[in-house]
Amino acid sequence: MVEQPTTHTTLEPVRLRTAAPPVHPRGAVFLDRDGVLNDVRGAGDASLPPRRIEELAIASDAPSSVDRLRAAGFVLIVVTNQPDVARGTMTLDAAVQVTGAVADALALDDGYVCAHDGPDGCDCRKPRPGMLTRAGRDWDLALDHCWLIGDRWVDVAAAEGAGVRPVLLERSYSWDRSGGANAPPGLTPEFRGATLGACVSYVLAGS
Ligand SMILES: [Zn+2]
Repeated sequence: MVEQPTTHTTLEPVRLRTAAPPVHPRGAVFLDRDGVLNDVRGAGDASLPPRRIEELAIASDAPSSVDRLRAAGFVLIVVTNQPDVARGTMTLDAAVQVTGAVADALALDDGYVCAHDGPDGCDCRKPRPGMLTRAGRDWDLALDHCWLIGDRWVDVAAAEGAGVRPVLLERSYSWDRSGGANAPPGLTPEFRGATLGACVSYVLAGS
């Protein structure tokens, strides 16, 4: 379900769902989408996210990883940059539909899509923290008890900016320039894992 018709001309992220906040003493785990929950073709800035549901392939270890987090009581929220919408090579509807399909396949609780590009100057495009702070308001979360698992430095930076504990699913491209920018000096995830399962194990041990 989409909250309301929204175009990418607004500088707010698009929210997938409007479920009422439950009791959630363990907080949330924010999950990056492309390269974490679903496979992409190519890598880094040259990667191609799925543009249609038919192109969507859930990552092989995502279902079991997400199930472990859910069993531990975490709210699960996907947060994804989809700048191809602003660039005109993907429609907003397609970006929201694919993200919704990921959320449905993995029974996630909510999701946010930034459909902007750098020049839009929004607050939600990672490395900015806006999707996390917005979710914090929507779900009444203590962000310092929440985690983010992502595969690029912009995920780590967004988490740091929101006071969320950052875990990096480290790939060959994780520290490449992203959105035309390099990682700021000193940016360090709390943990680096080679697999999503390893990242989840760290979260479960460290909460
Ligand atoms: Zn944005």
